[in-house]
Amino acid sequence: MPAFAFDNTYARELTGLYVPWQPASVPAPQLLFLNRPLAEELNLPLSVLEGTDGAALLAGNQVPEGAQPVAQAYAGHQFGGFSPQLGDGRALLLGEVIDRQGRRRDIAYKGSGRTPFARGGDGKAAIGPMLREAILGEAMHALGIPTTRALAVAATGEPVYREHPLPGAVLTRVAASHLRVGTFQYAAHRGDIEQLRRLADYTLARHDPGLVGQPDRYLGLLNAVCERQARLVAQWMNVGFIHGVMNTDNMALSGETIDYGPCAFMEAFDPRAVFSSIDQQGRYAYANQPPIAQWNLARLAEALLPLIAPSEAEADVKQAIDQVTGILSRFADQFERALREGQRAKLGLAHAQEADNEADDALVADWLAELHRQQVDFTLAWRRLADAAAGQEAPLLALFSEPQALQPWLTRWRSRCEADDASSTRGASPPTWTADRAERLRRANPFVIPRNHLVEEALEAATERDDIGPFERLLEAVRHPFDEAPERARYGEPAPAAVTACYRTF
Ligand code: AMP
Ligand code: MG
Ligand code: MG
Repeated sequence: MPAFAFDNTYARELTGLYVPWQPASVPAPQLLFLNRPLAEELNLPLSVLEGTDGAALLAGNQVPEGAQPVAQAYAGHQFGGFSPQLGDGRALLLGEVIDRQGRRRDIAYKGSGRTPFARGGDGKAAIGPMLREAILGEAMHALGIPTTRALAVAATGEPVYREHPLPGAVLTRVAASHLRVGTFQYAAHRGDIEQLRRLADYTLARHDPGLVGQPDRYLGLLNAVCERQARLVAQWMNVGFIHGVMNTDNMALSGETIDYGPCAFMEAFDPRAVFSSIDQQGRYAYANQPPIAQWNLARLAEALLPLIAPSEAEADVKQAIDQVTGILSRFADQFERALREGQRAKLGLAHAQEADNEADDALVADWLAELHRQQVDFTLAWRRLADAAAGQEAPLLALFSEPQALQPWLTRWRSRCEADDASSTRGASPPTWTADRAERLRRANPFVIPRNHLVEEALEAATERDDIGPFERLLEAVRHPFDEAPERARYGEPAPAAVTACYRTF
């Protein structure tokens, strides 16, 4: 029985946007992590993946039957500078499978050896960053945030050379697709309009089938991608996620979070938070993520222009520019709407109206300002609002060094909640400060995020002591982020401030 029932539409339909390539073979494949729930979702035979051939299949030593491995070509703006050719330097798309819900999903290796796009890189990956990608992806998925996910991480049994030798690994990534803003930039930069059109039509078929064949479908594509990104980045903001490297080659048209490199979850709230050691200017700091997303979408719009303007005549180009500018200008609104919706859920408000927008935005802004001023843990502060809703304020106040300074805000929040109850259309007497609200708050505000010190602890144990236990326990915790069982207590604790202050990702 083949491990995967592959289809290979990308390889079949998008000639010129990839190079056929084979994974490198490695000395001693060993499965470190297999994502069983995801394997089931994808209809993959666990017996094969867990069996004697599983590790060989998932480390690249045995290309799965039906796969047509290709290194995908793409360009991209990295930290604002354009590279006309990046491409998969150490990744290979194997093909696509149809999951249990009928969705087409890409299966790809990462760390499977140098490709023609590798430039100076070795094409390899170390165990640590691959396990990190696995943890972060599962955490995001459990938080309800669209994301690529790791199907498996297999150790290769060979060292990779970074600052010192590290044990190597291959990650198998599952994605709604790997179509990036950078893929469109690549086709547009080459000036091959027919290739660009094939790419855009292919993308529509995969992600916006309702637009296929429509006369204004490329504008529709831009609009759909803007909406997906607005929602995605709003979700990031509401869990304190900092992607860290929002280059245009790391922005997927599917609206999934992709490329878990130097990302991190924020602890003490700080809009300027940035963890990546390579982000010297703070271009990708927490608060910059929405405008950077819009900037990236403008690069997508530029790439799509030749498909949108019916000719190169000045009037046609001008009209196309006006059209894409109109779409891009709606991004800020789309983002704000999605952000506000999430924030209201986090505040426990269920019946808000348009007319409440301004006051609710101010309520959130003042809350965040207080968190910032007192350097309070973002995740726990929101979580402890649930306790406050259930009548227990002490755990919330304990997070603040000047708890009395929060009192005026708490009074406002309480009366806002009462107003929300009163505007409930459910009839009956409105529930005030009920278990109902506390329960809703607990479902909107996670207790467990993959905290940086816990992630590091898990990766260090796996890398330096061959001990996968801490990774497995952390994985179990992040898969149930809203569940605050006593045995999970340590997974909700922030790191000591001194540890967080100097935390850097690479
Ligand atoms: P990223 O910053 O992860 O999006 O990667 C940017 C580019 O560098 C992509 O084209 C990657 O394929 C490539 N790359 C990253 N690490 C390596 C490596 N170790 N070997 C070869 N290429 C790499
Ligand atoms: Mg990348
Ligand atoms: Mg990367």
